[in-house]
This record gives sequence, C-alpha cells and structure tokens, in this order.
Amino acid sequence: MAAPEFVYHNGKIVPWSDATLHAFSLAGKYGIGVFEGLRGYWNDEDEQLYLFRLAEHFKRYAFSQKAMRFDPGPSEEELTQAIFDLCKANNIRCSAHLRVSAFITNEGDMVATGPVGTTITAIPRPSASQVKKGASAQISSWIRIPDNVMPARIKCNANYHNSRLASIQAKQDGYDLPILLNSRGKVSEGPTTCIFLVKGGRLITPDVASDILESITRETVMKIAKEYLDLTTVDRDVDRSELIAADEVFHCGTGAEIAPITSIDRLPVGDGQPGSLTTKLQEIYFSLVTGKDRNHPEWRTPVY
Ligand code: PMP
Repeated sequence: MAAPEFVYHNGKIVPWSDATLHAFSLAGKYGIGVFEGLRGYWNDEDEQLYLFRLAEHFKRYAFSQKAMRFDPGPSEEELTQAIFDLCKANNIRCSAHLRVSAFITNEGDMVATGPVGTTITAIPRPSASQVKKGASAQISSWIRIPDNVMPARIKCNANYHNSRLASIQAKQDGYDLPILLNSRGKVSEGPTTCIFLVKGGRLITPDVASDILESITRETVMKIAKEYLDLTTVDRDVDRSELIAADEVFHCGTGAEIAPITSIDRLPVGDGQPGSLTTKLQEIYFSLVTGKDRNHPEWRTPVY
C-alpha cells in the first residue's frame, strides 16, 4: 500500500508519519479500538466523490463505541468535516477506501474508558480482481467469536485477531479466503465480509444472530434484491453443506464489495463460474454506489 500524504489524527490533518500512538496505550496493549471502513466512489461525469452510506456507518460507529463504553468522541458533524478536509488534502479523485477509528489512548488500567483518540485515513483503492473472477474459499477450522465472548456485532479492532487467524490458515492452504462457522456449527461470515447463497432462485444469508457483523453491504444487497429483482432474502441459520448444494455463493462488504465465491473446499460452486444473480446484483450495486443510478440519493454523500 502506498501511504497517502495526509491523515486526520486527533483533530488535525497531519503528515502520515505523525499519526502515532503510544505502544503502551490500551489500543496498543489490547487492541481497544473500534472503526468503520467506508468507500468513496468517483463519478467522472459529476466530478464528484460519493461516500457510500455514511449515515449508516456513523450509526454503527456510535453503537460500537457505546458497547465498548468509550467516552464521547468528536460529533458526526466534526467527523464529516474531517473526512471532507482529508479527501481534499489528499486530492482523492478516484475510488477510495476510508477508515474512521476511535481508540483508547490511556496508558493505564484496562478498564479506562478514555481518552478516546480519532484517526481517519483515505486511500485510493480500486475493486479487487476477485470481484470479476471470483474467489476460492475454505471452511475454516477456526470458529467465529461467539456473542458472549467477543461480540462480532461490535466492530472492534481486537475481533480481527479471529479473522486474521482464519485468513492466514486459508492463505497457507492455498485459498483466497476463509468462511467461518459459529460456535453452533452454522455458517457465520468471512473475515471481513458477509455470505449469501442462491438456491433455486432464492437468496439466503445467515441471520444477525449468527455471530456476524451487521453489515451495511449485506443490508444493501437485501434491499436492492427486493427493489430491483423482487427477491426477498431469507435470513436464517445456514448449514455448511448448504454452501456445497448452492447454485451460487458470494460474499460482500464495503472493502470487498460484492464478489463471487466460485469454489469451497475445492468443490466448484454451481458450474464454478460467477453466477448470474451475483453478476446482476453487482451491476445494480456498482451503478448505485457510483451514482450512475440516481436512486437512493440518501446513500451518497458528495465530498466536493
Ligand atoms: N463482517 C466483518 C467481520 C467485517 O469486518 C465487515 C467489513 N466491515 C463485514 C462483515 C461487512 O460489513 P460492511 O458491509 O458494513 O462493510
């Protein structure tokens, strides 16, 4: 990753190398931080950078901080202004990934609830090649963190220890990504994405009590499937073998967008090619995020 010139750090736009944190902070010692990953999409015709579903990201960010018992940080208005200033400082005029992080800078006891630091990054990032060609997945031998251990619903930095272990195993075993089951043995999610399957024209996804992050892309997929294709998504417990029996499987998230999963544990999903419903949902999604499709203007916050 090429580092951008500027970062927002604790109230100021500073050079990348100045966004530092003490190694003995709670963030450094225990991963006590929460964050949101956002995407901005450049629209050439409008000469505009659209931030996708900013309001929903702020809502989840506030929930994560509440659940972690953080002291109050900057307001949404301050954060929005900071994001705008940062995109302009880095002259972001392409698809980009943004990260808004809140973390405990206290160097003392683990129960401290503040001070809360804030860092925002905005880094150009095109779609991954897997969006087109699909990905191979492994059912991980790691299980997803259960809700009464470390709630996956909270977008907490330390949760990604679980995602990382599963991702390293998948990579070392020659797969693109892991799919984690939960402690009840049902399908949960990918390391940074939610899972959908298509069977007999029906769209199915693990429900929110499956130890998943309540994904904004997952909710977007469900909405566009209904509005554009008149398909109601069934959210429920999903068995591991249903993934093998599926006609199509895809995963989705802000960073990964919507990407087909074309094999699982080396078995082809359907005919081993990206599925037609997946491709259709991708088309609708990319038109909306970039603002080529003008529906849902409330989902796109213009930066410039
Ligand atoms: N699950 C996990 C564990 C994630 O980190 C992400 C990425 N934020 C997702 C699912 C997808 O969530 P969203 O669509 O809100 O980006």
